[in-house]
Amino acid sequence: MLVGDAGFDGLVVKIEFSGVELQETTLIAGAGESWDGLVARAVSEGLWGVENLSGIPGTVGAAPVQNIGAYGSEVKDTVVWLEAFDIETGDMVRFANSECGFGYRTSVFKKSPGRYVILRVAFELKKDGTPNSSYKDLADTSRLNLDEIRAKVLAIRARKFPDLTKEGTAGSFFLNPVVSPEVAAALKGRYPDLPQFAAEGGVKLSLAWLLDTALGLKGASVGGARLFERQPLVVVASRDARAQDVVALAQKIKKEVKEKLHIEIEEEVRILD
Ligand SMILES: Cc1cc2nc3c(=O)[nH]c(=O)nc-3n(C[C@H](O)[C@H](O)[C@H](O)COP(=O)(O)OP(=O)(O)OC[C@H]3O[C@@H](n4cnc5c(N)ncnc54)[C@H](O)[C@@H]3O)c2cc1C
Repeated sequence: MLVGDAGFDGLVVKIEFSGVELQETTLIAGAGESWDGLVARAVSEGLWGVENLSGIPGTVGAAPVQNIGAYGSEVKDTVVWLEAFDIETGDMVRFANSECGFGYRTSVFKKSPGRYVILRVAFELKKDGTPNSSYKDLADTSRLNLDEIRAKVLAIRARKFPDLTKEGTAGSFFLNPVVSPEVAAALKGRYPDLPQFAAEGGVKLSLAWLLDTALGLKGASVGGARLFERQPLVVVASRDARAQDVVALAQKIKKEVKEKLHIEIEEEVRILD
């Protein structure tokens, strides 16, 4: 989330439900638990399924909201059920995985902001799993154990994100665009090396590649906000940056992508302005 320079005029609730329970291969965690703490626990128990999601900042309760994902894994692959409080009806509701409306960085919780407060999430993991090496950065992990995979993911992430003690970021600022096969084929004709992935509803394009290689936008900046030099999907903000700098930079990038590539891109970050 990006909060506007004027702040947020309303009630902010921080969910702090804690506790992690292990029932055979199912981990059940309170929404306020640290996501990465849960991944570390799964790995230490020898349970497979969330190791590629090591190092994603945030809480367990927020993880299903945008169906967090990285390196070929998404949280939807392991969520069995979650419990939420429905603010509209005042009821406690249990959602099975199939009822969560999971998609690429989305869910029913993201589509109805403010309606559900997620309280607990259950993850079904595996004792005898195998590495998910589908993503190119992890292609050489097929013989690694869980601890080694977690260490490798954390090392890759340390290179791709800025030092959070010095600069601010929300991680990837934009979603990778999903376009029709015709648009994807036309772009592939223009840019033969453009990475493309099969996705629900079309073909997912690597926006980082387009911003960097096709448009040369790595490092583009407005005020104290800039596209990170090592990963242009990431917007970083210096200590004196204003939220407005980030918004203006995002608008500039969206305009350039639309004018030069004829595709629309959307923010992954929710802007509260
Ligand atoms: C350096 C960096 C790297 C990142 N890398 C990745 C990545 O690889 N993959 C990825 O998917 N994301 C990534 N992110 C994004 C971020 O980590 C996730 O979106 C994470 O789930 C946010 O958790 P949070 O607890 O901070 O939620 P917040 O940012 O506080 O909230 C996010 C949204 O979820 C809602 N929400 C939070 N908790 C609950 C709850 N209990 N019930 C209902 N709604 C709730 C909020 O209202 C808000 O709309 C990255 C972020 C950073 C800063």
